[in-house]
Amino acid sequence: MSMTRRDFARLGAGIWMATTAEAQPLARTIPEARSADAQQAHGSSQPWYRTIKRIGQTNFNEMDAKSNKVDVWADYWASARVQAVALSVSGPVAFYPSKVPFFHHSPYLEGRDLFGECVHAAKKRGIRVYARMSPDIQWTDPQLLETHPLWFRHNQDGSLQSSAPNIAFTCTMSEHYSKQQPAIIHELNANYDIDGVYMNGWPTIQVCYCDNCKEIGDPHSAAYRAMLMNRVEELINLYKATVLEKSPDNFYSCNLGGGLKESGLEQWRLTRDALWYTADNQSRSGVVAPIWQDAQQVKFARALMGDRPVAAVTASYGRAGQIMWRQVTDTTAEPTCRMAQTAAAGGIVWYHWLGLEQGFQEDRRWQAPGRDFLSWHAKNDAHFHNKRSLSKVAIVASSRSVTAYKAPYPEDRTDHLEGMYAALVEARIPFDFVHDEDLNAKRLAGYSALILPNVALLSDAQTQALEQYVQTGGSLLATFQTGLFDEHGTPRSDFALGKLFGIQKAGEPVRSSSQKTDPIGAIHLQSIRKRGPLSEGFEETTWIAGPVWRQPIAPSADADMTFIKPYPVYPPEAVYQREVPSDLPSIVAREAGSSRLVYMAGDMDSSFWRLDHPDLGRQIANAVRWILKDSNAVDVSGDGLIEVIAWETESGFAVHMLNYTGANAYRGHMRKPATLTEQQVRVVLPNGARIRKASLLYKGESAKFTQNGNIVTITVPTVGLYEVLGLEV
Ligand SMILES: [Zn+2]
Repeated sequence: MSMTRRDFARLGAGIWMATTAEAQPLARTIPEARSADAQQAHGSSQPWYRTIKRIGQTNFNEMDAKSNKVDVWADYWASARVQAVALSVSGPVAFYPSKVPFFHHSPYLEGRDLFGECVHAAKKRGIRVYARMSPDIQWTDPQLLETHPLWFRHNQDGSLQSSAPNIAFTCTMSEHYSKQQPAIIHELNANYDIDGVYMNGWPTIQVCYCDNCKEIGDPHSAAYRAMLMNRVEELINLYKATVLEKSPDNFYSCNLGGGLKESGLEQWRLTRDALWYTADNQSRSGVVAPIWQDAQQVKFARALMGDRPVAAVTASYGRAGQIMWRQVTDTTAEPTCRMAQTAAAGGIVWYHWLGLEQGFQEDRRWQAPGRDFLSWHAKNDAHFHNKRSLSKVAIVASSRSVTAYKAPYPEDRTDHLEGMYAALVEARIPFDFVHDEDLNAKRLAGYSALILPNVALLSDAQTQALEQYVQTGGSLLATFQTGLFDEHGTPRSDFALGKLFGIQKAGEPVRSSSQKTDPIGAIHLQSIRKRGPLSEGFEETTWIAGPVWRQPIAPSADADMTFIKPYPVYPPEAVYQREVPSDLPSIVAREAGSSRLVYMAGDMDSSFWRLDHPDLGRQIANAVRWILKDSNAVDVSGDGLIEVIAWETESGFAVHMLNYTGANAYRGHMRKPATLTEQQVRVVLPNGARIRKASLLYKGESAKFTQNGNIVTITVPTVGLYEVLGLEV
């Protein structure tokens, strides 16, 4: 039955309200007790999905319905020692003889139950199974189009939004979501021994002109977006409740994409009651993109989820930006490097290939890297169960400062975060993300310092939380327009944190710009006023590179560095400083009690990201080291580009070293990172812990270590693609 506009209005009344009469009974069906079979070795009463660390997935295509590779498939994932597999239920094509109307069977299925066979084969090998649904797409059956036209997303000209022949995208506002998907989940619950449901391809920011959506209004408008988010939140709750009807230990997860841009979704809101998070950026986002994007998305997801599970998908196939070789293996070190990043950052490794028949017939090269890494990981499983991060500094990630910030520049607003990330990786300082919705004493207690990379939007409550953090001894580094707007993006007359930093706004941001006739741009420089920790490494110069944008603040005799006005860069005869360095501060630093406070009056972070001048990276690293004082718990010194991530684990401590040293660290695909020699590791242990054994887990060797008091030192002779120093107590 098609949904009329009146039906839609009725549906809407229930959906747009935050709490509905329908939603509440569903919520009450979630029992609190945990079933005995889900009890795991790691944590006595944890459901299974909170303790697993390895997942495999072979996505099926419709022709796979006639594949005879079920046992080969199950044997492979068993050999890789995965603890669960994601198994295709699918959206436009069913891989089992579903009785749900309009759930189109693969034409190759011919009554077979491929899904059921795979569930059985996996279970026989002790592997959990969760159903991988795909509500975002649907078969364009002529009868379906006539019966449920509103199930489909429409373009303005009335055409369907299609991604493949006979397949089109679906509209989130329709009963395809509120009725059809729960019907499929009920059928799965009734007939199969599944352990959860994951929904791919949804939610997304859709642009739809179906009759329902036309009534709501412009799909690009804020009002439409708000209704869409309400609808998504309601549906997530509905699906979760439906999945949990089978067992309270099953999980539901949708696909929120992942990463700093949050796929345009209100991720904080949508993850408040989430059981688990799927980070689905499977490979680098562009041909030019840093190698560490997977570690970054897992760290960011952890800021949303806390100690709830985060799984990150690694593609084993080739991709370069918008181009995909979907059934050709990426034979570089990239897939292994991404799995290592997930493991290091505390996520569940999820390795992925497309094609049951193709993956075990045509291109089989993806198998060895997955089996090698995952089975190695299984052997060392105990070292990947983390109790808490050893990072002493966290970057505050503010969604609103990305989405609602009226920046003076046209470039990406996440560049501030990217620049800070890059500077900290280069400096080998372990760090986490903290979400700006999570600024409270409990969450911040473990950190000596917070970094605010142009957190332009700050509410009064957030300001107070940061002031309180400083009162209790926390330190801050902020850049550019941090706190110059309230939470709605309305400009403040002065910095919200002005008193803390001892700064006052003195005008609007200024861009260093070139002459119109001069194609080469000049830029601000920074004059060094004070010598000390903030100018370390700049001993042989009186000035350093500056940022593109500066935020004018009131002159201060106390500034560590000040701006030098840009001057021509051509012809050489004109390249000289016309005026003495200004008294306009570029960086101010002060101490208040035991707190240290640094403000950078420019976009040092995003300029570092966009232009890559090492002075800016060093300036940021100097400032972070100064505000950390001596609290950094883990130091790894030596040559090479390494991301250091460290944890207190269930078996002791783990120091992860992700080696990014190679020609393709920022572009394309890492072939094989250069093997690094001697890395000196120094770990400051908490709570008087005694180390009894140290191992280089990736190499599979024990390591000689020295412990003096609470300080452990180890020389790691070489680091290849990855190393984990496991310290057992
Ligand atoms: Zn629509």
